[in-house]
Amino acid sequence: MRSHTSIAATALMLLGVRAAVSTESDEAALTDPTAQCTAYSYAPVAAALAQFPPIWTPVSAMVSTSDPGYVKFLSINASIPNIAPKGVLGVPDEKITDGYNPADPDCWWTVTQCVTPKVSGVKGDIAAAPEPRTLGYGFDDGPNCSHNAFYDYLVEKNQKATMFYIGSNVLDWPLQAQRAVADGHEICVHSWSHRSMTAFTNEQAFGELWYTMQAIKLVTGVTPTCWRPPLGDVDDRIRYIAQQMGLENVLWKYNSNDWEVGSNNVTTTTVQGNYDALIAAVGAGTFDTTGAIMLTHELNNYTMQTAVDNYPKLAAAFDHIVPVGVSLNKTQPYVETNYTQPSFAAYNAARVSGASPSGSSSGSAAAASGSGSKSTSGSTAGSNQGTSAGVALRVSSLTLGLVVLGAALAL
Ligand SMILES: [Zn+2]
Repeated sequence: MRSHTSIAATALMLLGVRAAVSTESDEAALTDPTAQCTAYSYAPVAAALAQFPPIWTPVSAMVSTSDPGYVKFLSINASIPNIAPKGVLGVPDEKITDGYNPADPDCWWTVTQCVTPKVSGVKGDIAAAPEPRTLGYGFDDGPNCSHNAFYDYLVEKNQKATMFYIGSNVLDWPLQAQRAVADGHEICVHSWSHRSMTAFTNEQAFGELWYTMQAIKLVTGVTPTCWRPPLGDVDDRIRYIAQQMGLENVLWKYNSNDWEVGSNNVTTTTVQGNYDALIAAVGAGTFDTTGAIMLTHELNNYTMQTAVDNYPKLAAAFDHIVPVGVSLNKTQPYVETNYTQPSFAAYNAARVSGASPSGSSSGSAAAASGSGSKSTSGSTAGSNQGTSAGVALRVSSLTLGLVVLGAALAL
């Protein structure tokens, strides 16, 4: 859900930014949340900012007609289902649901939780892990600047997850984004500005996804092939656009409501009740045929700590907890073919043997900054940071340092 890290980053910028630029591993070693969230400059991001829309601003159009993304958009635009935007620039029209056809011709999840498209040729959503008694484990809205304790915990438990990253957060906190790949997590797209996707025009919706893919590629070296719409707001028009961009849509059937504490009468007790209900459902046999996906967040320290607190109970209840892509046996999670993710069987076999079930990389320059260890190597996740691309990026950031500070932090 809507992240407030941009506000935090702006405040920290006013207070002053970190003098020394750190590397992914330096950033990952910080334990003080305030230190983790002290803004920093990262040269590759600063150098590329002109190619991106303003951070945290809804994408109003592609940045340039010479942008490769614009060419790609033009190539699909004529075939996009003719469904009108349900609002303006990511803000829903509040009255639109009143007049919406109850037959749900658009397969609009927000209204009906529809996951099986009505428009032919549009692929359905993934709302459950296909493997029995399995939790497809994922977190939205990152990278959160102070996520080290949470990610450290996942390393300690040899647990990988799917991280649905917001493009603006990736450019705000590139070293934190790199950690996801270094630790062997799977990264998916969660839009550029975290607005309602059905309330964008075709070009704007394309841009929200395109620029997030490019931001993740710029920072981590890999290009995701999966996404999750903020608020779950998707219809067949948006599904089709994402599909044409090679993105598989991952939703959920269970909602922790962790993002919502403090509003809409949601309390920490509500959230714990949602976790407990999911765990009870495992015991009741609900997932004996098909597993589960629950909506949880990397949004703030509360949501991350709640994930940590509940992990032992989830691990005791489910037979398997795996990244969503692993539950789908998606062994090539990124566009780049030199990075592989273990199959469901290989992931579980690695965990049983005590090895790290990370993905592996052949280590070319296109590889992620910190490739995961090979699933058969027995290496500890997070210890194999820094194949060629990442090291090169970090060296360049050290070299260029503060020269580009202002540009890197423009919001
Ligand atoms: Zn979200």
